[in-house]
Amino acid sequence: MDRYRFNDAAKKALEQLRTPLAVYQFLNMRVVTVLLSDGFIDLLELEDRETAVYLMDHDMYEATHPDDKARIADEAVRFATEGGRYDVVYRTRIGSSGDYRILHAIGEHVYTEDGVRLAYVWYTDEGPWYSEGADQQVSLGHELRRTLNEKNAAGTVNYDVLTGLPTMSYFFELVNQWRRENNAAACKPVILYMNLCGMKHYNRIYGFAVGDNLLRRFAGIISKYFGQENCSRFSADQFCVFTQEESIKNILRSVFREFRSDKEGPSLPVRVGIYSEEYGMLGVSAECDRAKYACDTINQRQISDFRYFENVMLEQAQMKHFYIDNLKKAISENRIQVYYQPLIRSANGRVCDEEALARWNDPERGIIPPDEFIPVLEEAKLVYQLDLYVVEQILKKIKVQEQEGLYVVPMSVNLSRSDFDACDIVEEVRRRVDEAGVSRSMLVIEVTESTIGKDFDFMKSQIERFRELGFPVWMDDFGSGYSTLDMLHSIRFDTIKFDRRFMKDFGTDDRSKIMLTELIRMALSLGMDTVCEGVETGAQAAFLREVGCTMMQGFYYCRPIPLESILDRYRRSIQIGFENPRESDYYAAIGKINLYDLAVLSNEDEESFENYFNTVPMAVIEVTSDCFTLARCNSSYRTFLTKLLGYLPIGKPVDFEKGDGITSKRFLNAIRECAQDGGKMLVEEKLFNGTVMHAFVKCIAVNPVNDTRALVVAILTITDAAKKPVTFSYIAKALCSDYINLYYVNCKTGRFIEYISDNELGELETERYGDDFFEASHRDARIAMYHEDLDMFLDVFTKEKILRSIDDEGAFLLTYRLMIDGKPTFVNLKAVRVKTDEDHIIIGLTKKSDPIETGAD
Ligand code: C2E
Ligand code: MG
Ligand code: MG
Repeated sequence: MDRYRFNDAAKKALEQLRTPLAVYQFLNMRVVTVLLSDGFIDLLELEDRETAVYLMDHDMYEATHPDDKARIADEAVRFATEGGRYDVVYRTRIGSSGDYRILHAIGEHVYTEDGVRLAYVWYTDEGPWYSEGADQQVSLGHELRRTLNEKNAAGTVNYDVLTGLPTMSYFFELVNQWRRENNAAACKPVILYMNLCGMKHYNRIYGFAVGDNLLRRFAGIISKYFGQENCSRFSADQFCVFTQEESIKNILRSVFREFRSDKEGPSLPVRVGIYSEEYGMLGVSAECDRAKYACDTINQRQISDFRYFENVMLEQAQMKHFYIDNLKKAISENRIQVYYQPLIRSANGRVCDEEALARWNDPERGIIPPDEFIPVLEEAKLVYQLDLYVVEQILKKIKVQEQEGLYVVPMSVNLSRSDFDACDIVEEVRRRVDEAGVSRSMLVIEVTESTIGKDFDFMKSQIERFRELGFPVWMDDFGSGYSTLDMLHSIRFDTIKFDRRFMKDFGTDDRSKIMLTELIRMALSLGMDTVCEGVETGAQAAFLREVGCTMMQGFYYCRPIPLESILDRYRRSIQIGFENPRESDYYAAIGKINLYDLAVLSNEDEESFENYFNTVPMAVIEVTSDCFTLARCNSSYRTFLTKLLGYLPIGKPVDFEKGDGITSKRFLNAIRECAQDGGKMLVEEKLFNGTVMHAFVKCIAVNPVNDTRALVVAILTITDAAKKPVTFSYIAKALCSDYINLYYVNCKTGRFIEYISDNELGELETERYGDDFFEASHRDARIAMYHEDLDMFLDVFTKEKILRSIDDEGAFLLTYRLMIDGKPTFVNLKAVRVKTDEDHIIIGLTKKSDPIETGAD
């Protein structure tokens, strides 16, 4: 049936009425406008009749107060379908002022001559609406307000109270009615399923009143674009729209734009799934479902987007239902299997942690990877059941390993964001671990940055709870999302796991390497250990060892495997061994040393990153009582050593007594000293080709199990024999060449180092270490002293006299004769205190003059 048309004369007469009158017709389940009088247009302060008719047809209740929309829309449908009288009081916005006025509408049905039923509705303006708290002296307004509130509270059937849009069931009726009346094929109808992303979070931040307003605003926008009666709010933040395919993409973009730029307040991204009836007319409800599947496949949560339904989505949706419906059963029937992937300590190549990764082993579908079912369970807020099950399995594994006599290393469990919403996950985990009698430090909690991204403060408090209870918390997949640095700034993590993407770009992009190097350094500076995921090649592993990445995880070492496989591999001795937990701290210290330093980056060629990795040669060596071993080194050190030796002696012990043929005794002794004292020192080493090298050696850790010491060695300068630069040490050396001997003596312990010149250049080349300086010097004197001076020397050269003289006069001076080359030779001895060190004195011996003839033989 078409919209009724009055004859011209009747139309004119009615339109010219000053009384506000509207004539409606109920067509295809909708109220359509047939005629509006001038009085009506004036009352609502509308521009002209055309605009007024369009407005009334398109979204009749657009200007109606949100609290009244549903009630009067319902009343209109009741009046249209059941007859009787239409008598409503409601509020509506008039003109551009935005103020509400109270209108009273009274309607009756009138049949035309040709039997068409029309609704005549008369409106009266009952005055302005005063909001709560405002002056309520207008008694009529007060009375009406009460009426309005009562009526609204009575509830509605066909229209949603919040937005005034048709409810779901009424929407289905409206669509079906439209289909009965129209030829669907001609206009390609589509169903849109719309979802606002993050409504819950929005409500939490801004409160429910603002949230409700957002839903109303969105309802208003879609009503404007698609017509109010073609839209419905299904539930919460989910809307459906019935419209035509033509220009739909552009229209949706306009909807997104308008909602985004709405000045009334912040909005949310909108996801829209589109079901086109070209896929078949399945009934409105099923079509809405399919539009929803399409909507749910849109992962992008940051921006508004739309997607058309495809059949493959149906299969995915079925799988979703499968996971949700079968999780409990799968857990009870042991179909959820926990695989473990080892994390390898860079410093010793041993397993120092294991990550538990869930697999769903289905008899029909085979092994299903977590990427397929975890997101579904997360969305359904069920993943906590799985995660707690994984924790229980880990605790069982620890017991099994202990029974098998294997070391047990900490084990990581992944937690999802929804775990923290679904239950008190901190308490649930704590209880299980404590009940099992396992140390809390053995269970590592991994959370991803996206988990923390939302509701930052809440997550921060949960992470702090875990850490306060003694559970290490690691940040997983660092670098895979946004805003991570801020997160590190505010939340304390024990370890950062770098996302696989850094390793993916490894071979192709030096930038990725530089970023990783600096991120590792930053993490270490912040007191965190580091793990790199996705290590697939030896080159990647070597690089990570050099830059000080503490742990590595990836297929290069081992894929995730079940517990039975781990035990089996142990029995067959092919498993990478577990680290002795007592040595963990020692190896953590070795692994943390970053062998690169941006500070020494040459900026000669800023375009090239080569220099970055061409820095100070640095290495970590491990020292025992009788040998040392090169444990780690950077590429500069490697190049240096390979040039020197022709090979790289990583992992090959060098005996202190035998040496390696190129390292001098002096250097070996320095290493030994430093390891024993746990201190640091600068050492000079003259290599066989005349090259002089200055190195800094520092003890960084002691292994409590076998007393091995770890030292870091940095080669500060390497001076080519041919081009000797003038350096402080060069000048110092030239000055020292006047001395026959120099002694560096610890007066407290008696330990000393003797520097002896035994080459023709007079350089103090050789070092000798000794334990009791004063006794040694008296012993030497008896051998080398000219006999006439011996008694005097033994008398005055005592610790007490030397120190007293230094204290009183600043120095101790002595001249005597030594037998040099068989002749008595005068020497001057001077002892001074080391300025910065009360305990040490330096004693120098210079020749006074040419040997004197004494006549003695
Ligand atoms: P994730 O926590 O980042 O786990 C590391 C993932 O990297 C694992 O994938 C692992 O198999 C994979 N991987 C390890 N080494 C390599 C490598 O060298 N190359 C490549 N290409 N991949 C490597 P998986 O097991 O498929 O787990 C995927 C994600 O699923 C996990 O990422 C984690 O976010 C989640 N997940 C796994 N199990 C659980 C669980 O029990 N609970 C929760 N909530 N999430 C889990
Ligand atoms: Mg993980
Ligand atoms: Mg990860």
